[in-house]
Amino acid sequence: MDLMKSGWFSEVSELWPGQSFSLEIKQVLFHKKSKFQDVLIVQTKNHGRALILDGIIQCTEFDEFSYQEMISFLPLCVHKNPEKVLVVGGGDGGVAREVAKHPLVKEFVQVEIDSMVIEQSKKFLPFMAKGFESPKLTLVVGDGFEYMKKHQNEFDVIITDSSDPVGPAVNLFTEGYFHLLKTALKPHGVICSQAGTVWSDLHHVKETLKNCQKHFPAVKYSISSVPTYPNGQIGYLVASLDENVDLTKPVYRLSENQIEALSLRYYNSQIHEASFVLPNFFNRTLWS
Ligand code: SAM
Repeated sequence: MDLMKSGWFSEVSELWPGQSFSLEIKQVLFHKKSKFQDVLIVQTKNHGRALILDGIIQCTEFDEFSYQEMISFLPLCVHKNPEKVLVVGGGDGGVAREVAKHPLVKEFVQVEIDSMVIEQSKKFLPFMAKGFESPKLTLVVGDGFEYMKKHQNEFDVIITDSSDPVGPAVNLFTEGYFHLLKTALKPHGVICSQAGTVWSDLHHVKETLKNCQKHFPAVKYSISSVPTYPNGQIGYLVASLDENVDLTKPVYRLSENQIEALSLRYYNSQIHEASFVLPNFFNRTLWS
């Protein structure tokens, strides 16, 4: 199917049947197939630059901060001492940018499977890819699943910033993946994964939460608004190995001064708590 018609890109996927979100495009900056996926970077008319993988919008300059801040600060702020962090995926560098900001993080490793996404993000998406410049970061090109098999009992927090469950990311939502996350964590470890939206993908969100609950005693689902994602909303699965942790209450609370100093545009401690408050029909369907 031709997704670029008369200056518009349309996002069509079986993950959200019968609907499509479109962006008006000024210029195609990069378009090539990597070993893993179709990589497209465009200059949009009103939403800045956008990264699109296999025809699915990963991030736009307009609203990426909502996703990157939430997927990073939700788990980092519920762990008492998140000194060592692993990021799986995240080839645009936006999550690295946010993780690097957290005062308690001493070092982090990022494992991204596709070097083309990293290289082209450095070239065309510097507002996110500046995360790769952090001295706290060790960047590894490889499969996150395989990396964790060799790095057990090592991390305080693991963030899975994956693409949707098609292509190379299919494995990152399975029960086997959550088992691996559990064993790669230190005691009291916390995870956060991109978990899709209930509006169009209820079955997938439920399956992912169930897979996680088989290995983690404390599991919650949080949402934030990201206008250029399907239905304008994305979900985060947050889980802890410690059953006594209340994931909805940050133990590391940010002051107004810190929010300013860390240039946070979306995340604050009140948003953290509120993001776990779900509509009735989400609650009824998600946990049944
Ligand atoms: N924020 C985005 C979203 O929710 O749509 C995700 C952004 S990030 C670009 C997703 C990255 O995950 C991609 O660059 C992709 O190459 C990477 N990825 C997919 N499967 C992976 C795997 N098995 N190991 C490591 N990285 C993977």
